[in-house]
Amino acid sequence: MTAAIERTYEQRAAIAAFVRDRAAALDRGETDIRIDLAHIGEAGLLRKGLSGECLDEMVAVVDEVAAESLTVGFSLWAQRMALEYIDRAPQFLRDLYRDDLASGRTIGVTAMAAALKHLAGLGELPLLAERTDDGITVTGPIHWASNVFPDSLIVFPARTADGERLVAVVRADAEGITIANPPELLALGATSSTSLRFDGVRIPQSHILTENLAGFCGMIRPTFMLLQTSFCSGITRASLSEASTRLDGLGAQFSSEFEDVSAQYDSLRERLYRFAADPSVVPPAEFIRLRLDGSVVAVAATRLEATLRGGAGYASASATNRRFREAAFLPIQSPSEGQLRWELSQYE
Ligand SMILES: Cc1cc2nc3c(=O)[nH]c(=O)nc-3n(C[C@H](O)[C@H](O)[C@H](O)COP(=O)(O)OP(=O)(O)OC[C@H]3O[C@@H](n4cnc5c(N)ncnc54)[C@H](O)[C@@H]3O)c2cc1C
Repeated sequence: MTAAIERTYEQRAAIAAFVRDRAAALDRGETDIRIDLAHIGEAGLLRKGLSGECLDEMVAVVDEVAAESLTVGFSLWAQRMALEYIDRAPQFLRDLYRDDLASGRTIGVTAMAAALKHLAGLGELPLLAERTDDGITVTGPIHWASNVFPDSLIVFPARTADGERLVAVVRADAEGITIANPPELLALGATSSTSLRFDGVRIPQSHILTENLAGFCGMIRPTFMLLQTSFCSGITRASLSEASTRLDGLGAQFSSEFEDVSAQYDSLRERLYRFAADPSVVPPAEFIRLRLDGSVVAVAATRLEATLRGGAGYASASATNRRFREAAFLPIQSPSEGQLRWELSQYE
């Protein structure tokens, strides 16, 4: 092992330990993900895979963090995606926001679910932009976004009345933005996930990231899907590891199911790291299949873990219970299981 690889490995292990110690408190809502993201940023791990660098280390960071807490793994994905967008933005926006996002000093919001759904032909963008002399004003809802704090940086898609579609950047405390009180969730409460309302929010021309929504989403989509699959991989491994200790006695009844889910996990992980090593050679349908498989195997593994753990896993304070609740989000996260199945069907 070279010194550089060993150092990254040690950093990832230290971050995993940090998140492990906080996972229960995060689940109870006693703290939030800003501390974890700042810690990961300070270690330089948010920058992995930027600007054409191989994505495999970033995949490993999200994978290992999510094995300790999907809450943090999911927020880390959102932060890293906001950074990815800014990294691909014009120089002015890069200079303004890249370092603060990469260090975790600024928290990033990716409100791009509506864009991916729209580009799949499944709905219109809810935010409407009107041109002004020096940019746009934006009105409409963001139905869901995570990492939403008053000083977060939001990257969002919008459309104009004459059908142009763009991506822009705004601070959450900008005039005209109302952040709804976060609803109580089954899990992931520490991610500050909520809805927002824009009312004539002024965005200067300099904060329009791109006017080519489809081209931009095409560029970021492999990273988007690979890092989402990374947190599916992490939580699945944690559940399988716990399940593997309970296959004796009555647990032996679940041996074949355990073997089955483990084989699905092995396949997922092998493809995840192979695709991350060179996304450019991967056919688009394979990213869709990978992300879909990630969601399916994570739900199966957390369900199996809960079954094998018995009553103790039904206590909401247990890690088994937390993973079970956290994983329930994966089939509805955009691109949702319904959308992924529909997209895959277009290739068949
Ligand atoms: C806790 C949480 C955090 C989130 N964080 C983020 C975030 O950070 N960023 C972000 O961008 N999004 C975020 N989301 C949104 C998420 O990624 C999904 O987009 C969202 O959960 C989809 O839910 P929806 O209620 O909009 O469902 P919909 O997409 O409206 O789907 C509801 C039902 O309608 C069906 N349906 C949907 N569209 C069609 C159609 N065109 N034709 C026929 N049937 C259709 C679906 O199959 C489903 O059965 C978050 C959501 C949650 C719950």
